[in-house]
Amino acid sequence: MKYFFLILSLASTLLASPVLTVAVTLQPYAKMLSRLGKDRIEIVVLVPEGSDPHTFEPKPGTLKDFSKAEIYFTDSSGLDKNWLPRFKGVNSKVKILALDSGIQFESLDDHHHESEALDPHLWVSLKNVQIILKNMLAVLMQYDPQGENFYLENFNTYMEELVSLSDSIESLSKKLPEEKKTFMVFHPSFGYFARDYGFKQLCIEANGKEPKPKDLQHLIQEAKKSKIQSIFIMPNFSKRSAEMIAKSLNANVVTLNPLAYDFEKAIKILLETLSKVQ
Ligand SMILES: [Zn+2]
Repeated sequence: MKYFFLILSLASTLLASPVLTVAVTLQPYAKMLSRLGKDRIEIVVLVPEGSDPHTFEPKPGTLKDFSKAEIYFTDSSGLDKNWLPRFKGVNSKVKILALDSGIQFESLDDHHHESEALDPHLWVSLKNVQIILKNMLAVLMQYDPQGENFYLENFNTYMEELVSLSDSIESLSKKLPEEKKTFMVFHPSFGYFARDYGFKQLCIEANGKEPKPKDLQHLIQEAKKSKIQSIFIMPNFSKRSAEMIAKSLNANVVTLNPLAYDFEKAIKILLETLSKVQ
């Protein structure tokens, strides 16, 4: 009987069943965590793929999964302030840890300054992603010291990919003349990308809504001045004003989804589109 349990526990180590259950707010953070922890980590994502975090309500199934989490990664933008009490209600023991220490926050740039909202779209800058990964790595190594080498190896592999993508954005930015570095988005998701790589983001959305006709005229003038050739929109967001502006500028409307699990895809689309600027 003793041997049976020994074999059983040995088998479970070999099968690499998850050692830690970690919860994150958004899909991009789940991707980062999964690249670091692979099968060693069970990941709970609060906002499911395709859901809009701006209007999100926690699902009962997610609350149930969250009740098993040992660690919850949050950030200081206040993104989760409306849901966190409910999640904490089902799991009072969860360790709430910041993934953003070392990141310089900016306020959300969407033409309204009454509310001092911080920009939560941290992961669109690969420089921020590298900081987040370092923070995640430190936590994983602290809570699962046996996995240290495993996490470190995965971290190094992923870092190499991120640095290489980050370098290509940087070299594009160096190549482009200043007047071609402005891009237009409906929702202001790419603020940290713009800040960290020397681009400028023009945002259509005003205070989370479609702009008024007067603002639209102003935006068209601004876009013309900035020689905008592409307007980036996200799935599930209104296309109306983006298409209107695009029409009057003869610009393209490009869809990308920075909130997807594969968040690097959105960054690559942005990079490719910007590199085609004439
Ligand atoms: Zn957003």
